[in-house]
Amino acid sequence: MVVIRVALDVPIDTLFDYIAPDAVLQDVGFRVRVPFGKRFMIGIIMAVSHDTQISSDKLKQAETILRDIALPPVLIDLFEFCSRYYHYPIGMVVMNGLPSRMRNVRPLARSSHKLSLFRLTDLGRTIAPSSLSARYKVKQRLLTWLNEVGTINQIEARKISPRAPKILQEMQTQGWLKPVSGTGEPPLEISPFCAVPLTTEQTIAISAIQTEINQFNTWLLHGITGSGKTEVYLQVTSLLLARGKQVLILVPEINLTPQLEAIFRSRFPSTCLISLHSKLTPSERMEGWLQSQRGEASIVLGTRLAIFTPLPKLGLIIVDEEHDQSFKQQDGLRYSARDVAIFRAKQANIPIILGSATPSLESYHNAITGRFRLLRMSTRAVKNAVLPPIHYIDTRTHPLTEGLSEPLLTALDNYLNLQRQSMVFINRRGYAPVLLCKSCAWLASCPRCASRLVVHLKQKALCCHYCGHNEALPLACPQCGDQDLMPFGHGTQRIETALERFFPNARILRVDRDTIRRKGDWQTILDTIHDRKVDILVGTQLLAKGHNFPHLSLVGVLNADASLYSTDFRAEERLFAQLMQVAGRTGRTEIAGEVLIQTEFPDHPLYGALRQHDYDAYARLLLKEREITLFPPFSYQALLNAEAPEMTMALAFLNDANALAKPMNSIEIFDPVPAQMTRLKGLERAHLLVQSPSRKRLQFFLSEWYTKLRQIPNRKVRWALDVDPLEF
Ligand code: ADP
Ligand code: ZN
Ligand code: ZN
Repeated sequence: MVVIRVALDVPIDTLFDYIAPDAVLQDVGFRVRVPFGKRFMIGIIMAVSHDTQISSDKLKQAETILRDIALPPVLIDLFEFCSRYYHYPIGMVVMNGLPSRMRNVRPLARSSHKLSLFRLTDLGRTIAPSSLSARYKVKQRLLTWLNEVGTINQIEARKISPRAPKILQEMQTQGWLKPVSGTGEPPLEISPFCAVPLTTEQTIAISAIQTEINQFNTWLLHGITGSGKTEVYLQVTSLLLARGKQVLILVPEINLTPQLEAIFRSRFPSTCLISLHSKLTPSERMEGWLQSQRGEASIVLGTRLAIFTPLPKLGLIIVDEEHDQSFKQQDGLRYSARDVAIFRAKQANIPIILGSATPSLESYHNAITGRFRLLRMSTRAVKNAVLPPIHYIDTRTHPLTEGLSEPLLTALDNYLNLQRQSMVFINRRGYAPVLLCKSCAWLASCPRCASRLVVHLKQKALCCHYCGHNEALPLACPQCGDQDLMPFGHGTQRIETALERFFPNARILRVDRDTIRRKGDWQTILDTIHDRKVDILVGTQLLAKGHNFPHLSLVGVLNADASLYSTDFRAEERLFAQLMQVAGRTGRTEIAGEVLIQTEFPDHPLYGALRQHDYDAYARLLLKEREITLFPPFSYQALLNAEAPEMTMALAFLNDANALAKPMNSIEIFDPVPAQMTRLKGLERAHLLVQSPSRKRLQFFLSEWYTKLRQIPNRKVRWALDVDPLEF
């Protein structure tokens, strides 16, 4: 009897056995349609075997094996590793790591369809987009894209307009375009050399990686903001493309993909590059997945989910801004795409580059202890560009008007007169974080979460930033009826309004999650900034990440102190990284910039190190503290999270869990406690922390514990394990 073991998207920890008389060993990795309960499901064949633990009367027969596309064995290994390491059901790991289209029963349409890639002919290059009449808007935009980026495929064209793919054909008939064979073979045209000579530090970094290009190494590229890390990525990428390899590039934020994508496209114009992120339609994602699986896509650029892309010729992985928390998924399979990437590089025996100006303490520790290879770049690549001086404005002696101090306002005024751009950074969107009744001290809070509602004055609404709850701004206090309600504290909207009043002639632009809701908003904002159509930017951390703003001279930081004395042991590390990153947005050209930070604690060691731009000093200081307190990277953690309608239920579950834990050497189990966010979306939350100096021991403990946890009866409690948690 032939039995197949199938991964199915159900929250049960096993594979499911089915009889499949026609199955052969080579069917591992193929999709299969099987009966499950009252319905049919699509799963992946993970093994073919001759025996089973299931009694034969319970064993059902698989319906059809779909032999259209197979998951390669390395991808199956990767999924198995994730299931093991993060203690998450294998079927859910596999099925959620694949494009949703693969769960459709119908055969994958267009699976043999190849995307054509177009580029301009010599004739096409002579045509200026602006020379076309306004009737040809789509054509104009296609030409502009091609002039900037070099190539376009139908999927990209469809983003410009639904009619665009057809117009591409028209342009081909006109002799403006020609198809490129950007698939399969190694790219024909590699231009590995940038127009400018490499800096010494870039040369050293590149040749270090080059000498060990065919083997696994984790390279930590610790380069200050503006040191030219992108150029290192490009050069190393070109080495691998020349060998016919595929390159996977992970970025933390979907907003960072277009910028990097444009850079890579213009450097490798005839190479097939695909970008994978959560905003793609299911069929776009499927198409990208297939191109990668067939080895046609040479460069795959994406957010964390891209780590599960099949890449038969993978030769290099790059993780840009490796310190960024967005690499960690916070629900479902709580994986760190950076850590999984390291596993994958090791599995494929290829180099991986982790790049950052402010590495995570974990990576930094690995680098200084020799587990990672450290590459440093400590000068800015652009000639004469230097790191900006950082000054502190002591808010104890400089009172604030609408959150802004006199010295900051003066500086803004100066740069306005010099026609340079400024940015005011405040990590809080909305108008004010709190709505307060002056007579009875009532505070607007979320009915479903343990959080305050944020005032959004422009929308006349109160919003919960945790669950999205939204209600109209009340006219009077619901508790005492008083009409004297006061927005308390500052958010981006309020600062924007204040700046509009202080500088009526300035062009002010607010950038936060509220202003970039729609597709394309972000690109418009970037264009506005680059075209110098804005004088003062007001924004959240969205502005701090990885962007290059050449005209920016002044950065003002409000409200940084908030995270200085947090209970989260990572708060300082994050604040430091964030401020270094914000500061890094300025002074990126010959024109010097400066950074002004409003604070009540100018003597705090964090600010001292920041003034010196001394990441190392501060990182070592933080590492010392972590060593004494035995926090990561000096220990490994796992968090058992529980959510229930009532706190007592959540805690009772955790106490049961605690009682089931077998005491083990070098495993420390803490008491269950309510989470920092004690209530979210109507559920009470608590957790229990497990810690060990040894990752191996912790994994050993977790495996045993996890099977027992599954047996605790808990109809009302939702629980999950978070290995290497970043949020508490
Ligand atoms: P990082 O990612 O390290 O912050 P970027 O890669 O964005 O820095 O590079 C910063 C700027 O330096 C960019 O404008 C880039 O074009 C420029 N640059 C990179 N390498 C060189 C070089 N060798 N010479 C001159 N300019 C360079
Ligand atoms: Zn009141
Ligand atoms: Zn809420």
